[in-house]
Amino acid sequence: MGIHVNDVKQWLFKTNSRMQEEKAYLTALDQAIGDGDHGINMARGFQEVAIKLEKTAYTDIGSLLQDTGMVLLSKVGGASGPLFGTAFMKAAMVCKGKTEATTADLGAALQEAVNGIKLRGKAEVGSKTMLDVWEPVAQYVQEHAEQLSWSALNDLARLSMEKTKEMEAKKGRAAYLGPRSVGHLDPGSVSTYYLMEALCTTMNRSGEPA
Ligand code: ADP
Ligand code: MG
Repeated sequence: MGIHVNDVKQWLFKTNSRMQEEKAYLTALDQAIGDGDHGINMARGFQEVAIKLEKTAYTDIGSLLQDTGMVLLSKVGGASGPLFGTAFMKAAMVCKGKTEATTADLGAALQEAVNGIKLRGKAEVGSKTMLDVWEPVAQYVQEHAEQLSWSALNDLARLSMEKTKEMEAKKGRAAYLGPRSVGHLDPGSVSTYYLMEALCTTMNRSGEPA
């Protein structure tokens, strides 16, 4: 089964729509345990990504993801810009030269993204960060690459996001709150969920077996 460069483009357009729709919600989540800019950061970043992708014709998933990472790195401040930017740049390397990727390629690309986020942010699973969604998703795709169910992947991403509510933050601004961060969703996990949800809905719609 293939993930075509046009699917990747549609995925990022869909992600942008979701970030615009959820801008206020993401900001409210960040107001509770951070500084209240996460929705603004994501909405601005993916808007700029969409503008870049709209005006460029791609045949190489690697260069599409590379441009996405560069835009996020350069246009988004805060912790999340460099982290999402690094994730896309690392994923780009795995997809270099490919017009169509396999789910095994997707698994490898997600794992590279996770490695990049960890290297940059020094968080682990359980630190109540975006990694709490990225890592289980990367693992699931690698383990189920042969028979990937997009709806099961979507469910896993959502459950992983929901689990951050009960965690105590160990990294990022929320860590300053210590135990008071418990009871709130991690904003970066919620935006990462929208990214994964957009991937799953895009791929389901493109007629791949679920
Ligand atoms: P900032 O925290 O600089 O205001 P954002 O509000 O845009 O930036 O992003 C906050 C999100 O970034 C958090 O919810 C968390 O998911 C993620 N994050 C923060 N620090 C780290 C880190 N060290 N590793 C992984 N993710 C992190
Ligand atoms: Mg913030």
